Amino acid sequence: MRINRLKLVGFKSFVEPAELKIETGLTGIVGPNGCGKSNLLEAIRWVMGESSPKSMRGAGMEDVIFAGTASRPPRDFAEVTISAERGFDDAANDEDHELEVTRRIERGAGSAYRSNGRDVRAKDVALIFADAATGAHSPALVSQGRIGAIISAKPQERRQMLEEAAGISGLHVRRKDAEQKLRAAETNLSRLATILADMD
Ligand code: ATP
Repeated sequence: MRINRLKLVGFKSFVEPAELKIETGLTGIVGPNGCGKSNLLEAIRWVMGESSPKSMRGAGMEDVIFAGTASRPPRDFAEVTISAERGFDDAANDEDHELEVTRRIERGAGSAYRSNGRDVRAKDVALIFADAATGAHSPALVSQGRIGAIISAKPQERRQMLEEAAGISGLHVRRKDAEQKLRAAETNLSRLATILADMD
């Protein structure tokens, strides 16, 4: 998968609509302190389904919405759209070759996601990116302090990074889902057995 465009509005310091074209190869973000470099990386993670406010440097998820300044009122919503080209292995069919995912959060209403115009769940979005090895925790996104964190990571954390890079972290989510369904089916079966026994 190749990310080629990022659009933001009302996200953290990006109060006005902003659009960035991401070229092929390594992309670095440079600029003076506090200009919003980390906010851009956080926007990419957020649209990919990041669910931890702490990793967005906030107390709650609504903290990603532009909070206002002395001269500008706060916004009621934040929206980030990411566009990507999927490799033929990642796309379910030809129409899915181009991917556009949008996440929007409104105060008091939580987040909503759209993938190529269809409403989807956070989990679906996280799986799309995890399967393509470009998820919210992907080593492809190198934020400040990340290199140090990799060097000092525990073996378990390193394993997670490798799984993320290999695009297999989505399999853990699917396994957990399958186990939950299995447990629910077992509960239903045992209920059924009780009902049948009562009928005898
Ligand atoms: P540094 O080089 O110091 O790490 P940076 O370029 O990475 O800085 P960011 O940390 O991305 O900068 O941006 C910080 C700026 O974003 C601060 O000015 C902060 O006030 C602003 N900011 C963060 N969250 C919000 C928000 N919800 N609403 C408005 N502004 C915000």
